[in-house]
Formats: sequence, C-alpha cells, structure tokens
Amino acid sequence: MNAAAVKEKPIAPPMKDHIVSLQASAVHWTPQRTLAWAFEKFGNTVAISSAFGAEGMVLIDMAARIRKDFRLFTIDTEFLFPETYALMDRIEEKYGIEIEKVFSVLSPEEQARSHGPGLWSRDPDRCCNMRKVEPLRRKLKDLSAWITSIRRDQTSTRSAAQRIEWDAKFGLVKINPIVDWTSKQVWRYIHDHDVPYNALHDQDYPSIGCMHCTRAVRPGEDARAGRWPGFSKTECGLHMIEPAQS
Ligand code: SF4
Repeated sequence: MNAAAVKEKPIAPPMKDHIVSLQASAVHWTPQRTLAWAFEKFGNTVAISSAFGAEGMVLIDMAARIRKDFRLFTIDTEFLFPETYALMDRIEEKYGIEIEKVFSVLSPEEQARSHGPGLWSRDPDRCCNMRKVEPLRRKLKDLSAWITSIRRDQTSTRSAAQRIEWDAKFGLVKINPIVDWTSKQVWRYIHDHDVPYNALHDQDYPSIGCMHCTRAVRPGEDARAGRWPGFSKTECGLHMIEPAQS
C-alpha cells in the first residue's frame, strides 16, 4: 500500500508539553537516532520535507538506511530548475520511494492572470506565500510531525532551532536532525556515502530554490546570497519562528 495513502489521526496538542520536556535529552542525539525516534514515535504521520539541497539529501539517505517506506514530500512551486527535477527522478529510482509533490492552488499561468506576470520580481513574499507557505500549511494538516534539514548556522532566523521542537506556526512537532551540523559535515557525509546531489552545487549554487529567485554566488559571498538577489528577503516563510501559541 502507498504510505502516502494512509492517514491516521494527528496526535493531540498535549504532545507539545512532551516535546518541551524531551528537548534536553535530545540535545546530543545523532541525526540517525533522531530519525529512528521520529519514525518510531509518529509512524506514518511523520514525513521528511525537502527541496533537495545538500542537507536534505543527507537526511533522505540516512532515512533510507533506517526505514524503506519513509514519507518524503516537496513543495513543487513549478518554478524549479531542471537539475532539481532531474534529482527528484534520481531519488525515486535510487531509494525506491515516491516523492509526494504538493502544488500551489494556482498554476503559474493562473497566477500570472490573477496577479500579473513576474510577481516574484515585484512581491516575492506574496509569491512565496501562494506557492510555498499555503501548500505547506495544507500538507502539514495531515501530519503529526515533519522533519526538516535546517541547520542553525544557515540564517539568523534558524539560529535558535532545536533538534525537536513544537512548531507553533503550523501546530505540529518539528524535527531537525542535523540542526547542529556544519556545511562541512554535510558534504563529508555526501562524499563518504556516495549520496546524489543537485548538479547546480558544482556550479556555485550552494543554496537552490526557484529559478526566478536563485543565482550563483560570487567568490566571498555568503552561501545564501544567491537567494532573492536584490531583496532583503532571506527566507520563504517555511521556517520562520512565531511566538508559541497556547
Ligand atoms: S522563491 Fe521566488 S518564484 Fe519561488 S515562490 Fe518564492 S518568490 Fe515565487
């Protein structure tokens, strides 16, 4: 049976209190132990979310060594690079899984008709909200927990992320197995385990998003300088921390 087709009732809000008490003991867990815990605890109601950057590829490879039928989803904005779509095909083939693709309600053509052409160049926040945040919110309603590949040293907004935390923005458990890893550790794992990765990483694209909003970085630039060039924006809104809600 397709794992994605099985839906169990999401775990109730008291889980939030359990997560807070668990955080201290999880501080020194390895990524593999964190993933194993997540699969054991949440079964088919936890899924890895990935845009298939280097960090995401590490998690996918680790997960495949723990459980063959793990769930993996991506927010497909329909503006991704051909190299990213090629990598998605390779992942499905290598790991024998089906990536759950989540789309915006509006096709690119419908968005252009409703909001004008090139919305990303005028109002990237609105574009990201329609093509990334709303689809993610819709997807997470079916889950008790999601697994991400964020690292603390990627952006200032991620610097306080915990290995396991309550995601107040979306109302479920958020698990970040490599939150304390460095970029060097990520690439060591990829090379040591022969993990596939996006071909653009070898062309000075350390961080890869939509084609319209990603460029190669120049020597000496920050790894995320190629995202939303010309705007102060550094996040699409998926990992922004909001005040805890009661
Ligand atoms: S990254 Fe750019 S093109 Fe992609 S959803 Fe955000 S604003 Fe739109």
